[in-house]
Amino acid sequence: MLEGKVVVITGGTRGIGLETAKLFAKNRAKVIIFGSKKESVDKAQAILAKDNITVTGYFPNLNNPEEIKKTITEIITKFKKIDILINNAGISANKKIEETSYEEFTNIINLNVIAMFNVTKATVPYMKENKGGVILNTSSMVSIYGQPSGVGYPTSKFAVNGFTKSLARELAPSNIRVNAVAPGVINTDMVASLPKEVIEPLVKTVPLGRIGSPSDVANAFLFLASDMASYITGEILSVDGAARS
Ligand code: NAD
Repeated sequence: MLEGKVVVITGGTRGIGLETAKLFAKNRAKVIIFGSKKESVDKAQAILAKDNITVTGYFPNLNNPEEIKKTITEIITKFKKIDILINNAGISANKKIEETSYEEFTNIINLNVIAMFNVTKATVPYMKENKGGVILNTSSMVSIYGQPSGVGYPTSKFAVNGFTKSLARELAPSNIRVNAVAPGVINTDMVASLPKEVIEPLVKTVPLGRIGSPSDVANAFLFLASDMASYITGEILSVDGAARS
């Protein structure tokens, strides 16, 4: 479905991002993953190599606009274009507001919102030059309902939705589609790090009766990245088993 397309995936070293890298490569895209450090990029490349998949990896500081610009320029020099950008890197939170420090709150906003802005800003000029592109963002179920603790996380994901809907309108005349996927509870390290008392009640609220898998989300990204979604932009696609919590 993605023959010849060049895709950049931030947070591509684990969980949803790694599964998306694998699926996109299987659909013949040229995949570039970003991770937070060399070791995690090396580890992801080794995992993918077991399936005979080769991806290019970088580990720029997503909060350093100059470093991002340099990395995107390097990618353009090597691959000539970027067709699809997936802003997927993210961290979550679960502390009550009184226990949340200024640093913890700003760390979430910096990665989940500002990094998305930095990578998108550096990529858009090349998409315009190439007369089109697709930008996909990883939002969350909490971007619709909020959550009862860890206020920084839903705050950041509401911002992801606002960014998605607004940029879709701004970039539509340049033939760039912008959409987001809003996963529910997905079986990744992010969820594994939550206490059992938090996860079990969450799973009980899922009408489909199971936790989601990274490939449930990767499949939604594949659809939105492909020409099958050519008239879809500015959408937040829930992939949550009808969970409403
Ligand atoms: P994960 O923890 O398995 O992966 C997170 C990814 O983000 C990793 O590749 C990591 O390298 C990257 N990352 C983390 N901190 C970084 C930093 N400082 N700089 C650069 N990269 C960094 O989590 P996941 O569940 O695969 O999460 C991926 C996305 O999905 C996130 O945006 C998350 O908010 C969203 N999401 C996850 C769930 C879920 O239930 N797992 C639900 C809704 C939304």
